[in-house]
Amino acid sequence: MANPLFDLTGRTALITGSARGIGLAIAQGLGESGAAVVVNGRQPAAVQAAVDKLTGLGLQAQGAVFDVADEAAVAAAFEAFDAQGLHIDILVNNAGIQHRAPMLDLALKDWQRVIDTNLTAAFLVGKAAARRMVARGQGGKVINIGSLTSEAARATVAPYTVAKGGIKLLSKAMAAEWAQFNIQANSIGPGYILTDMNAALIQNPSFDAWVKASNPAQRWGRPEELVGTAVFLASAASNYVNGQIIYVDGGWLSVL
Ligand code: NDP
Repeated sequence: MANPLFDLTGRTALITGSARGIGLAIAQGLGESGAAVVVNGRQPAAVQAAVDKLTGLGLQAQGAVFDVADEAAVAAAFEAFDAQGLHIDILVNNAGIQHRAPMLDLALKDWQRVIDTNLTAAFLVGKAAARRMVARGQGGKVINIGSLTSEAARATVAPYTVAKGGIKLLSKAMAAEWAQFNIQANSIGPGYILTDMNAALIQNPSFDAWVKASNPAQRWGRPEELVGTAVFLASAASNYVNGQIIYVDGGWLSVL
């Protein structure tokens, strides 16, 4: 018999940036644990394709196309959920972008775009979801997707590093204010994962060799390897876990 602690039946999960990659894997994983999932991205066709994939697997899924970094768009999306009677019990702040440039050459607009998408959006969507969780009085779960750069810097990705460091502390700030409402907010810090975001790095032989040599698992991670931690943090199994970050990195941050 499956352990009921991890059962998400009757829960609704919004996973931002879930048209592909890590977000889509987490959406599928939460759906396979019983949740109804809301798939998000900025491109309607990509969101619909992800919804079709999930419903084709027999899962409950619908789409919500909006830009997580646009405050008005976030407000409109949640008003549409309200009108539909849809309550978000589980929020996964996953949408993210990368921009690689040495800091000496980095334009303010590129710094701002990465901070807005990878950090400020988690505050905006988190606030919209948590306000409704508080009003409803049934608690909730927020999972913020960090990175190895939540812990350590790497050259050429300064705004990403600052945003992901901020994600780790945003989860603690959410825990500090929302634990009293039975909301748990935690982060997941993935290692290097095989997704479109890393397409150029995966094709680069020296980067690929560096990933394999630096990581005790000696390989890249796969999106589906984030699912177990996401289900744990979305479920009753983690009801007394708050403000933490769990690295899913093959042991990378544990070694020198
Ligand atoms: P992908 O580039 O494969 O997917 C990113 C998703 O986010 C897409 O669905 C994209 O859709 C969506 N997205 C981007 N910007 C926005 C926006 N403003 N509003 C709504 N949706 C948006 O990335 P990954 O799956 O690799 O990454 C997912 C998360 O995991 C990110 O936060 C990333 O930083 C993090 N991460 C990834 C790692 C990796 O090695 N891949 C390692 C550590 C962390 P669209 O562009 O169509 O809107």
